[in-house]
Amino acid sequence: MTQPEQPKFRVGHESDAWCGPCKRISAHIVIAMVDGIPKQVLCQSCGSRHNYRLEAGRSGPGGAGGSKPVVESRKLSPAEQHQRKKQEELVVLSKELAAATDVRPFVRREVYKAGQIIEHPEYGRGKVENARRDTIMVRFSSGLKSLLIS
Ligand SMILES: [Zn+2]
Repeated sequence: MTQPEQPKFRVGHESDAWCGPCKRISAHIVIAMVDGIPKQVLCQSCGSRHNYRLEAGRSGPGGAGGSKPVVESRKLSPAEQHQRKKQEELVVLSKELAAATDVRPFVRREVYKAGQIIEHPEYGRGKVENARRDTIMVRFSSGLKSLLIS
């Protein structure tokens, strides 16, 4: 009654561990054990597989450049994570579109290249993701659209 129970690790069970890619402690599934201690774990957040540890090990490449504090107190379900990721991508896209200086009006019979920013009369600004002879795939903040150009 005096000693707190030690957490028991088992392969296939969930255990909190430090995740390098996530840069935080998150839920992991133990996938390999040595001497009763998890050896390898699978991150439930980002899906990366790495060695088990409880705190940040050696600092990764990239240095202290653009690291932002992650404010996240609750766990997200995979669907929420997917949603969050899409939102983040949308924010990045919106910023890129808003900051673009070389914006070309969308005109049929014009030739576009992937990576160009265009201004569509109906959809607004979008980024060309894929350009073919007769259609271009453009990422607007409202979604991906295929536009006929010929
Ligand atoms: Zn992770």
